[in-house]
Amino acid sequence: MGYVMTKEGFEEAVKTLLKSCRIYAPVRKKGAGRFTDVDVILYDQVHSAGEIELSAKSDYASKEFLTPLSETLLFFTEDAVKEADLDPTPVLVFGRSCDLHALRRMDQIYLGNGKAEDPFYRRRRDLVKYVLIGCAHSYENCFCVDMGTNRCEDGYVFSVDEKDGCIWTDVKDAAFLPVFEAFGTPREVVPQYVTENEVHVEIPDEIPKSVIHDDLWEEYTARCIACGRCNFVCPTCTCYTMQDVFYSDNGRVGERRRVGASCMVDGYTDVAGGGSYRRKNGERMRFKVLHKISDFKKRFGYQMCVGCGRCDDICPEYISFSNIINKVAAASRKEDLS
Ligand code: SF4
Ligand code: SF4
Repeated sequence: MGYVMTKEGFEEAVKTLLKSCRIYAPVRKKGAGRFTDVDVILYDQVHSAGEIELSAKSDYASKEFLTPLSETLLFFTEDAVKEADLDPTPVLVFGRSCDLHALRRMDQIYLGNGKAEDPFYRRRRDLVKYVLIGCAHSYENCFCVDMGTNRCEDGYVFSVDEKDGCIWTDVKDAAFLPVFEAFGTPREVVPQYVTENEVHVEIPDEIPKSVIHDDLWEEYTARCIACGRCNFVCPTCTCYTMQDVFYSDNGRVGERRRVGASCMVDGYTDVAGGGSYRRKNGERMRFKVLHKISDFKKRFGYQMCVGCGRCDDICPEYISFSNIINKVAAASRKEDLS
């Protein structure tokens, strides 16, 4: 069922929703970007519709509520452990088609990658429903069409498209119908989605082993500065590390935190005895790329990367993930011809 609303009507609808849930959405932070006078769009809790950035791609991904960069999981004393409280208020997260596709990857890793689910992810996941932000056009560096993530037909409770000065919504979950009936006019609504990107990638079905030793990775040893930003903005990166923080000198009272980790930064592959599996930045890049476009698929049957292009948008060295994919394809062809 679809509805079209004025922006004021949408503001009222969001006010109504906020009586029973929290909303996390992309928010434009003026002047907080990496250069002077440059904005950044990241996820934050919003308290009105006007705060939600609908017209630009977010720099950071919608995973921020599900997997915060730092989360206290539990507290421990000498003889007891207490799980950290979590606000039980339901949450709506606004995301684009690529973000909703990324959610499947997140669920796969935290809930479907072994015998047991991750209980700390599960308790957050159970609170969350997604709202789809339609894409009226492709954004810089997106290659969602080639990754098959440009369109989303389910997995959201309602959609939001800004068009002709109004907000158009396709309501999928009947529980939300009364809100939009109150502020909108019934219309047929199909969420906008892109059918063409400027950027294209070709992912080989099989990546020959020779690609692992190809010279192509050397370029990234020289260019990449191992800052890890590409991982932190990626909607499908799920790696984390644990930190125990002690409150006193006796080391028996404190809290355990889950903290985001990056396969691109120093220390990620360090092991006891001073070893490290991937010291060169090019080797780390190889690991990340082949995980995203080959190894995950071997295990789960579909690609990990959703083609959102956020890693390209954020890289201070202008390294392009889509370019690397195409270089891997070219190196694989070279092997086929030899
Ligand atoms: S690897 Fe880059 S393009 Fe692919 S999902 Fe992650 S951030 Fe998006
Ligand atoms: S954002 Fe760029 S420079 Fe930083 S780790 Fe990723 S690829 Fe390397």
